Amino acid sequence: MNILMIGAHPDDCELRGSGLARKYVLDGHRVRFLSMTDGSGGHQTMKPEALKTRRRREAQAAAEVLGIEYVIWDVPDGSLQATVENREKLIREIRTFKPDAVFCHRTNDYHPDHRNCGLLVQDAAYLIIVPNFCPDTPAPRKNPVVFFYDDSFRNPEFCPDAVVAIDDVLEDKFRMLHEHTSQVYEWLPYTACKENEVPADEAARFIWLRGDPVTEETTDEIVLGDALQGYSRRFALPAAKYREKLIARYGEAGKKVRFAEAFQVSEYGTQPSPEELRTLIPY
Ligand SMILES: [Zn+2]
Repeated sequence: MNILMIGAHPDDCELRGSGLARKYVLDGHRVRFLSMTDGSGGHQTMKPEALKTRRRREAQAAAEVLGIEYVIWDVPDGSLQATVENREKLIREIRTFKPDAVFCHRTNDYHPDHRNCGLLVQDAAYLIIVPNFCPDTPAPRKNPVVFFYDDSFRNPEFCPDAVVAIDDVLEDKFRMLHEHTSQVYEWLPYTACKENEVPADEAARFIWLRGDPVTEETTDEIVLGDALQGYSRRFALPAAKYREKLIARYGEAGKKVRFAEAFQVSEYGTQPSPEELRTLIPY
């Protein structure tokens, strides 16, 4: 299969879908991440031009860890809009890459780039098959299935259609995240007023990145606020939230899953049958 994961910034697909992405790659599928902006906004000291170059390099290093392809649009961070021009650009990407499934943000989200990313994908979801829209790129007969990444916004609530255990690829997810130095060790701690907590030494930083540990006892105790205590807890939150779905998917083994990623089918792409859903996300 061809899988296209779309995010607004270089690190969004990584945080929300890279466990699943890694599973696809290990299974021989082709995965591409697309960041709709250049990530040039988020830093407390670096200026946009230098930051843009650095984040491109970090994204490439993350791509190498995961074994995926990475595309970054030349749109300034914080300025993504759901224009017709961007809709055409996206439709060209989708028509040439021919994904079986496309992943994106939902449109209710705190960040305007995330909202507009979700809106652009949903605006494209039907027009992909319309030949007179963007006639320079041949239109396929069938729309891909569109999935939303999990988030914590509640109006409306996220309703997952697939919750995937990622315990077996969690280490890859951490190694990949470690490559996003300017984000996970600089900007994101700064936004949480925790920049002084980040160790200077690289090995110590990599341990710090995991944050508070998740044990068999704590897995289902984790609540939204705990996800701020490091990435282990953040990645454990979907397992705690959607435990029943994990048990429905994996049987008894679902009770032991500690880390998960969750995905909801958008109503605007192709609507998969339960069997098709299982083929698209077979893990
Ligand atoms: Zn983002």
